[in-house]
Amino acid sequence: MRPRLLVVSDLDGSLLDHHDYRFDAAEPALAALRERGIPLVLCSSKTRAEMEPLRETLGNRDPFIVENGAAVYIPVGSLRRAPRDTWQEGDYWVRAFAPPRQRWLDLLASLRPRFGDHFTHFDRMGLEGVVAATGLERQAAARALQREYSEPVLWQGDEQTRQAFLAALTGAGATVLQGGRFLSVAGDCDKGRALRWLRACIQQEDPARDVHDLAIGDSANDSAMLESARHALVIRSPVHDFPALQRQARTDYSQSYGPVGWCEGVMAWLARLDPSATE
Ligand SMILES: [Mg+2]
Repeated sequence: MRPRLLVVSDLDGSLLDHHDYRFDAAEPALAALRERGIPLVLCSSKTRAEMEPLRETLGNRDPFIVENGAAVYIPVGSLRRAPRDTWQEGDYWVRAFAPPRQRWLDLLASLRPRFGDHFTHFDRMGLEGVVAATGLERQAAARALQREYSEPVLWQGDEQTRQAFLAALTGAGATVLQGGRFLSVAGDCDKGRALRWLRACIQQEDPARDVHDLAIGDSANDSAMLESARHALVIRSPVHDFPALQRQARTDYSQSYGPVGWCEGVMAWLARLDPSATE
């Protein structure tokens, strides 16, 4: 029996160009996926509020994964029934893998007496502060502020105190990742776990048919997802090395950057599955 196919992709630096966030270079592969009815699951560190406009632009109605694997949003009806452990929120069935953002806001508030003004974070900075600190336009900053599972923190103190701050956060159960400028404070989740859960839901719909997934990403925070899928497409970055992966089988590394590499890699994957894909 033919397998069900599934593509799960990171956004920034993968489907979206690292510099200008455009994806038009990927259009031929996006069209090929649409024609074949292959779901494209967007999977990003972005918030739901940031991902929804992009899904709209792409005409994408497939499930998507937010805030580095903290939650999966499944449009109601895109699976035959609501998967276990989900709840309905608006037009979505939601599965969360991490505590809500408020948990981290409470934790940060509790650290205020000890670390004072050595740190600030999105919720405290507000819209104007986030615009000033990130250079985002107001509308984009407002969407970035609509976080549900994680909180970006800006450290403003010395290195020694920073280490104590990190220890206090992780000691209280937070997972802390260093991004470009911000520390991301969140629960213990990753894109790989979210992908494995979603794939199992799809598999359950039709147990007799295997699900063959292709994971696409460019960074270390994509590693768990890239390791979890049947096929992996690693996208070349103009600003950092390929993420280190354990896997070697069924793993492609793009020659081109961003959406150009994305397009080439997806077309090659389709062609290998079925030689008629690129006719
Ligand atoms: Mg990326």
